[in-house]
Amino acid sequence: DPDVPISEVVRDPVARVKEFDSIAHTSILRPNDIFLPERENSSGLDLSWKPHLEKVQEALDKELPEAPKDATEKDIDKAFEKADKAYFDWQARPVKDRADMLVVTADLLEKHKTELMNILIKEAGKSWSDANDEVREAVDFCRYYAAQARKMMSEPIDLPGPVGETNQLSYGSRGTFVCISPWNFSLAIFTGQIAAALVVGNCVLAKPAEQTPRIAQRTTELFYEAGIPNEVLSLIVGDGKIGGYLTAHDGVDGVAFTGGTNTAGLINKTLADKEGAIIPLIAETGGQNCMIVDGTALPEQVTDDVISSAFLSAGQRCSATRVLYVQADIADRVIKMIKGAMDDLVVGNTESLSTDVGPVIDEKAQNALNGHIEKMKASGRPWHASPYPKTPTDGTFVVPHMFEIDSIDDLEKEHFGPILHVVRFKAKEVSKTLEEVFSTGYGLTFGIHTRIENRWKMLAKRALVGNVYVNRNMVGAIVGSQPFGGQGLSGTGFKAGGPNYLLRFMTEKSLSVNT
Ligand code: GLU
Repeated sequence: DPDVPISEVVRDPVARVKEFDSIAHTSILRPNDIFLPERENSSGLDLSWKPHLEKVQEALDKELPEAPKDATEKDIDKAFEKADKAYFDWQARPVKDRADMLVVTADLLEKHKTELMNILIKEAGKSWSDANDEVREAVDFCRYYAAQARKMMSEPIDLPGPVGETNQLSYGSRGTFVCISPWNFSLAIFTGQIAAALVVGNCVLAKPAEQTPRIAQRTTELFYEAGIPNEVLSLIVGDGKIGGYLTAHDGVDGVAFTGGTNTAGLINKTLADKEGAIIPLIAETGGQNCMIVDGTALPEQVTDDVISSAFLSAGQRCSATRVLYVQADIADRVIKMIKGAMDDLVVGNTESLSTDVGPVIDEKAQNALNGHIEKMKASGRPWHASPYPKTPTDGTFVVPHMFEIDSIDDLEKEHFGPILHVVRFKAKEVSKTLEEVFSTGYGLTFGIHTRIENRWKMLAKRALVGNVYVNRNMVGAIVGSQPFGGQGLSGTGFKAGGPNYLLRFMTEKSLSVNT
């Protein structure tokens, strides 16, 4: 509601929580202040950080669990067969049963939070606060989708009709979903896809990214512990070839995918080439996200928001700022401040609480990002880098870099890491700049910094993206508050963590009775 003053909304998180009482009183409390005031969540567990510091440290002393084995084609055939048999009863159960199981899953995720953080920190290189936020997001997905499913599926919707006839519409499920999730949110997105598909009555074969099988294994165990039957949910570990076998399988009734735009295209083609029913694909893919900063913006705030949006999480978020468009009049000042803040970033091993920027996911990613950095340096553009990590040399680190470029057109693709590009634009060239920003075909996130209300309203209206953020950072969408997902090359919609997401996993049935 544009009439609600933003400051009020921000200052009163508890009031907002009440709106979705299904959500843990958790993510709403971002930003990532590790000394959050102590508070209790709905399941009675204390989620504040302070008492957990020691527990996280203790958890970090534990070895990682063994990685689960890759699935074979035979395992996949069997999982589909099991799901097919279980589906009829599973979809017929009252929605309450399935929603209750998600709520228990959420409680279990909270209960095992430090153990999960240990896996996220070591397996995916997450920083402490990113790992903490990710557990929260997974919890929120479970609670939110449970509440949405209850709301949508408990009672049919009455529709008008002639006297002597009742008409109703109800929601059902589709069958067996293949859920393919990425390594950058190896807990939250993995959990969100599965929770959404299951709660409306589908069976799921879940394939996590090959880089992060352990967190997927542990989470799957928690789903089972919460009562999700073994036949209804199967974990399928493996590489892209396994993913190909899964999506090409006859047993697929729907696919939820988060990952690269090219892979989404390949999956779409595979599904289209199959004989029989048309199979829906829910895809959430990359972005070439920009933040636009005009001459009225507050440089301190811009700096803070650029640092968190471009460099934290090692830039490995789909939502991250890749290109900063800054009005020429204040560009020198803003760039100077960003350089100063970059100098303060601690790059290193995420087992240390003081680390801001951890490693990128693997050597392949490291080489590709460093290749881009070398290319940009060789082109003679002005650049700046954070200090090289002092202690660790044995990780796949990519040092945060900033490069000045002429236009977003200078970049041929998304560079998924801690690399920021900066373009200076003239005050009179806002329209041209806007055209440029939305010319890539991607449409995920867009940041705006201005103190002119009419300007942000105009920019937000014209933005061809899924998520617009004004005078704040542009990452870390909160379930239920900022439904997440893009358009064009960035995905199909509907948005994860939003009121329409479950519809993509559903069928509709109309019932007409002559009374
Ligand atoms: N939802 C995350 C955010 O808002 C990004 C998800 C992704 O990178 O896929 O930052």
